[in-house]
Amino acid sequence: MNEFRYQPLYDEWVIIAPNRVRKPVSLPEPPPPPAEISDPFLTGGESKTPPEIYAIRENPTIAASWKTRVFPNKFPLLALETPPVSSMKGVYSSIGGFGAHEMVIDQPKPNKHFCLFSADEFRDLMLTFRDRFCALYQDQRIASVVAFKNQGAKAGNAIRHSHSQIVALPFIAPRLAKQIETSREHYNRAGRCLLCDQIASEENEKLRVLVRNRYFIAFAPFAPRYEFEIWIAPIVHNSAFTLLTKDALSDLGETLEWCAKRLGIAMENPDINLALFTEPPRRNHRKADYFHHIERFFHWHIELAPRSRSSDGFELASGCAINPIAPETYASYLKEIVI
Ligand SMILES: [Zn+2]
Repeated sequence: MNEFRYQPLYDEWVIIAPNRVRKPVSLPEPPPPPAEISDPFLTGGESKTPPEIYAIRENPTIAASWKTRVFPNKFPLLALETPPVSSMKGVYSSIGGFGAHEMVIDQPKPNKHFCLFSADEFRDLMLTFRDRFCALYQDQRIASVVAFKNQGAKAGNAIRHSHSQIVALPFIAPRLAKQIETSREHYNRAGRCLLCDQIASEENEKLRVLVRNRYFIAFAPFAPRYEFEIWIAPIVHNSAFTLLTKDALSDLGETLEWCAKRLGIAMENPDINLALFTEPPRRNHRKADYFHHIERFFHWHIELAPRSRSSDGFELASGCAINPIAPETYASYLKEIVI
């Protein structure tokens, strides 16, 4: 039986519709990979990229020993040089394209699929995100930073070499702002963090919990917008990904590996997005009390969203996603996969 489910963190409704038959989406095959020699993101191609901002290296004195590298995107959405000047024209407001757009080459090997990353590779990617978030938060003009990874054409990836991206914005990203708003309302009403309450409910019900270790829990959210969607969050309340410790980084790497490997087997290395949501820097908001108690009510987390299909007109018209697999079904399926 189909069912409407509510996701309080986004104030959104999702339709779980296991009986709905979908036409398979046929997308053209992506073009064949270019010859490796033209891939500037391979080991040894360090001089072919824009100047490096950050790197993790096995040996800091050997340039080619990198595990992750970060540099400005050659085709940025935004640039720090553009002044963040805003203007209003009637009901329309705009801000100059101010911000930062960074490329994170998270893998020296070409075309390594997200689902094949090791725990150490995920740990290094998360360490890179953490350090870049901390650096970008120093810029007083930046209001929020988002980090994500696009794996595959359906997930918006245009470059075949495995990479992630970090974008710093002069306003609070709308999806993050929504989380702040719903979490604040829940805190004001219940006196507790909304995601802590969701995690407690998941641990109590045990229907959708996938895996947990010392620091992290991975679960299928109650109202997932995507087939096989997974959320990963710290078990003990924490608002700031930027404060992640070394021990927690290792556990996060292991949690990501557990999820990615099983998604790879269940969905045959799907196109997938990873998105990270954390507390923005506490400054310059037009509402004076916007950040009041944010460390108590906001809970950072990661979302993994496999992209097995396109959305349709109903989803555009209603704003409700349709998910043909109930999260309880795919959670138990993923847990049965033995690696
Ligand atoms: Zn919490």
